[in-house]
Amino acid sequence: MVVTRFAPSPTGYLHLGHVVNAIYVWGHARALGGRVVLRVEDHDRIRSRPIFEAALLDDLDWLGFVPDAGRHPVRRQSDDPSVYAEALDRLRAAHHVYACDCSRKEIGGGPYPGTCRTRALEESVGRGVRLQMDEQEESGDLLLRDRDGNWTYQFAVTVDDILDNVTLVIRGADLLSSTARQIRLGDMLGRTSPARFLHHPLIVGPTGEKLSKSNRDTGVRELRAAGLAPADVIGRAAAAVGLIPPGKRIEAAEVARLFL
Ligand SMILES: [Zn+2]
Repeated sequence: MVVTRFAPSPTGYLHLGHVVNAIYVWGHARALGGRVVLRVEDHDRIRSRPIFEAALLDDLDWLGFVPDAGRHPVRRQSDDPSVYAEALDRLRAAHHVYACDCSRKEIGGGPYPGTCRTRALEESVGRGVRLQMDEQEESGDLLLRDRDGNWTYQFAVTVDDILDNVTLVIRGADLLSSTARQIRLGDMLGRTSPARFLHHPLIVGPTGEKLSKSNRDTGVRELRAAGLAPADVIGRAAAAVGLIPPGKRIEAAEVARLFL
C-alpha cells in the first residue's frame, strides 16, 4: 500500500505553500488508495515552538485534511532522539562516519571537500558528524548532525521515512537537488526498497520568488480571519500552481479528482 506523509515544521504558521503540499499529498493518497501519515518535523530545536504545532494542526483540521492514523502526529522528531542515534550507529557499522565541525564559512560555497575525513568520530570538538559519500556524489559528504548537536533535515527525514514505512515522498520542487542523496542515504541505512519521490510546483510571486512565511496574504490564519471558507483557501492554493482555474473552490475531500 502507498504510504505518504504530511510533515510540517512547527517554525511558523500554515500558509498556502503548505496547502499546495497537502493537496498533492492527500490527492495522491486518495487517488492511489493509500494512507497519509502526519509527522511534526521539529528537528530544529531552536526555531520550533509548541504554539506553532498547535496552530498548524488546528488549521489543517479546519481545512479538512485528516491524516489516516488520526489527528495527532505519529511522530514528533523530538519525541525519541534515540532513533537517530541508533541510525547513526547503524551507519557507522558499515560506512565511514567522522567528526566535522567546519563552519559554512570554512567550507565556502561549494561541496564539502572532505577536510575532516581522517578524523575519528570521537575527535569531535563540537558535535558535528558527517557521512562519507561515494566519490560521484557531487554535493560531497553529507552532514548528519550539525556542530550545535542538531540532527540535520536530510538525515532526520530519511530515518523517519523508514520508521514510518513511507513509500511515496511528496514534496516541493525546491528539494529536488537533494533527492538522489536521500535515496542513497536510505540505502546506506539498510532500506531494501527505496521510497519513490514526487516533486510538485511551488507557489511563486510575480517576479518568480518563492513564497515566504511572512507574506501576509498567504497565511491560513489570516485567510480564515478574513472570512474565507476551507474550499476557498484550498481553491486559491490549487489555482496558484495551475491545478484548477483561478476563482474556483475545492473541498479537501475532493482533491483526489485532480490526480485521477
Ligand atoms: Zn570538516
